[in-house]
Formats: sequence, structure tokens, C-alpha cells
Amino acid sequence: MRDRLFFLLSKYGIRPRDSIGQHFLIIEDVIEKAIETANVNENDVILEVGPGLGFLTDELAKRAKKVYTIEIDQKIIEILKKEYSWNNVKIIQGDAVRVEWPKFNKVVSNIPYKISSPFTFKLLKTDFERAVVMYQLEFALRMVAKPGSRNYSRLSLMAQALGNVEIVMKIGKGAFYPRPKVDSALVLIEPRKDKIVLNENLVKALFQHRRKTVPRALKDSIHMLGVSKDEIRGIINNVPHSNKRVFQLYPEEVKDIEEYLKKHGIIS
Ligand code: SAM
Repeated sequence: MRDRLFFLLSKYGIRPRDSIGQHFLIIEDVIEKAIETANVNENDVILEVGPGLGFLTDELAKRAKKVYTIEIDQKIIEILKKEYSWNNVKIIQGDAVRVEWPKFNKVVSNIPYKISSPFTFKLLKTDFERAVVMYQLEFALRMVAKPGSRNYSRLSLMAQALGNVEIVMKIGKGAFYPRPKVDSALVLIEPRKDKIVLNENLVKALFQHRRKTVPRALKDSIHMLGVSKDEIRGIINNVPHSNKRVFQLYPEEVKDIEEYLKKHGIIS
């Protein structure tokens, strides 16, 4: 794979662009692990973001019914079209965060890390069965962090409210060319059967002050909910889980807070 990558880079005179996260996988085992974890089979319609020079895409195309792959770099797309004669791959040119996604049931992707956050929030709002995604290790650790831990953030809460998230494998810098500055991790995301759909503005408002107690955090960012401090006086001190700090809240507990605020007409 490494040789083939260098061959293609030199054949087309490409210099990988760090600004759009062009770090190509050069270890076959990692590609195998991603496909195996996603349990890709002939009934699957796969969404891939960022095919790069197509090594993962090619393996997906061999095993899935259909692969949609979204790539932002027109030059890369021209190379893919010249180098492969896939008949079950549709390449979509554009920014994966902005373009409308086709229907799919699984995601397998080595994404550009800059779009990790918007990509993940978009994914979590979409219907799918299973996603296996490469992230920067720090980001992956935030996704799986448990309430009360140092890494627990808005991302952890939202990801775990909607999905079951698990780090499958940590991956060193040497698995990519050019070598990135950060370590990576392959993450499995499966939607929860009992999804907890939370008011995103409330979650944002709370996590503005992740170390404060719930009433304090709400008072300090109540403007984000379009409400004045006067309107919450007398209500906010009795909010559920008032003795907890924001970073200790489970998704179910945020739901309790949301319902309480709804009942008192603070949010709709
Ligand atoms: N899948 C390939 C691999 O594993 O070798 C390449 C992965 S590389 C980390 C990320 C790819 O995403 C690059 O091909 C880059 O051009 C593309 N890309 C960057 N930003 C993008 C965006 N916003 N939408 C879609 N593709 C993007």
C-alpha cells in the first residue's frame, strides 16, 4: 500500500495538503480492522467521507452493495476516476459537512480531523446502523469519556445520549503518510435504541460552565436560552440535580432538567 501510495503521488505530482487533512492510511491491517468492525456485507450501503487515493474505498466497494464517498478535492476525484473502474461507487464532490447525505446504513471513514465535530453531530442526527470512524485520539477520548471525568464535555454527553460509543483500536502516527502530529483511534458508534434527544441549546448553555453547579451554570448562561435572570428567579434553585456540577450529568439527568424547564415555561 505504501508503495502504491508513493507511486500515485509521484504519477500525478501531488503533495498531500495538510490544510484539508490529507493524511493517507498506509497500513492494510487498519483498513481491514475498520471493515471488519463495521461488518460490511453485500447488503450494505456505505457512506465514506474523504476517500483520498481510494484504498479504503476500493475494499469497501468489493464487499458492499453501494458506496457513496464524499471528497472535497477535485484533483483527488480526477485521480480516482482514472485509477478505478468501480461500478458501485458514487463519488460526491463537496464538503461533507455541507452537502446533503444520501441514504446509507453504515459509515466507514478516515475523516479529515478538522471536521470531526460537525461531522459527528451531523451523523448523530442521521439514521444509520453502525459507523466506524477514525478520529484524533483526544477527540475519541472525549467521545467515550464518562460523566465526572476530566474529558467529559458537550460532545461526550451528546454522543452518549444518542449512541453507544467505543474505541476499537488506538493507532499511531506511523499508520499514515504524511505522518500526522497526533495519534488516532478507530471508533465504533451505534445508535442507542433508547435515544435521548436533548435540547441542544440547553446543553450548550450548561456546558458554557462545565465545572459549576447546575443552578449556577444556568443562571450564568440563561441569556443563551433567550430568557432573563428575573424570569428564572424562584425556579432555578429547585431544578433537578441541583447539587451536581455540569460535567457530572448523565444524559438522562439533562433530560430531567430539560423537562423541568419546559414545565415552567422557560424553554419550549
Ligand atoms: N480515506 C483516505 C485514506 O484513509 O487514506 C484519505 C483520508 S484523509 C485523512 C481525508 C480526506 O478527506 C482527504 O482526501 C481530503 O481531501 C478529504 N477532505 C478534506 N476535507 C473534506 C471535507 N470537508 N469534505 C469531504 N472530504 C474532505
